[in-house]
Amino acid sequence: MPELPEMENYKLLLNQKIAGRPITAIQINREKSVNVNPELFRKTVLHQTVRNINRRGKHLLFQLQNGQVLLLHLMLGGWMFYGTEADKPKRTIQVRLSFGKEHLYFIGLRLGYLHLYREVEAEEKLAHLGPEPLNATFSAEEFLKRIATKHGRFKTTLIDQEFIAGIGNCYSAEICFHAGILPAKEIDDISESGRVQLFQAMKQVLTEAIKNGGYIENPIFEGDIKTGGFYGVRKVYDRQGESCQRCGSAIVMETISSRKTYYCPNCQK
Ligand SMILES: [Zn+2]
Repeated sequence: MPELPEMENYKLLLNQKIAGRPITAIQINREKSVNVNPELFRKTVLHQTVRNINRRGKHLLFQLQNGQVLLLHLMLGGWMFYGTEADKPKRTIQVRLSFGKEHLYFIGLRLGYLHLYREVEAEEKLAHLGPEPLNATFSAEEFLKRIATKHGRFKTTLIDQEFIAGIGNCYSAEICFHAGILPAKEIDDISESGRVQLFQAMKQVLTEAIKNGGYIENPIFEGDIKTGGFYGVRKVYDRQGESCQRCGSAIVMETISSRKTYYCPNCQK
């Protein structure tokens, strides 16, 4: 599932392509992907200029000139492609927004959605989310304060969107590896210095991942060589059986709370 770095990468690249441009046509092939009657969706969104694309956690917010917002969550298997009809991937398209001859295709939206809200409604929908991990105001002190009230396995808390927004299976594994701490370690057993290490690892891993275009492999437009670059430099996620780059031991995959969890059993304590 796309996490913060993947959505941030989409945000940065899509802003270059469609910010300031009007939506010239709308195609809804799967009505369940939107939250209102397709006719109403069309009436509200058609000819609106996309002012800006923002991100909150794993969501993107397409801000329209009329104050409405398209709130996107890709969930498991969702992705996007931007380009002409000729460049379009041979996949089923759930929703298509057109910008003249170019289109933004929403693909693999099974659990994912593109919902239409007024700005204040969109804010309400996202109100439960925890802080943005890369906000400059989100300090180590704040992290320590938030984690002090938590118990149980660290990974479970790290991927809880109400604790911190945007982290899922891939980056929780990478962050724990970077900090040298086992994902299944009980929070109560992690020292204060270990907690600070995890906080710093979180900032560093997410920043690196954004710089590398995240790990989702599909390019977002023809000639996009940035998207997916993190997959090649990840340390543990999806690398079971491979040698740990730090100590040479074999990376292990274990299912914790029905989620695949990757770690090095030797250098993560
Ligand atoms: Zn290792």
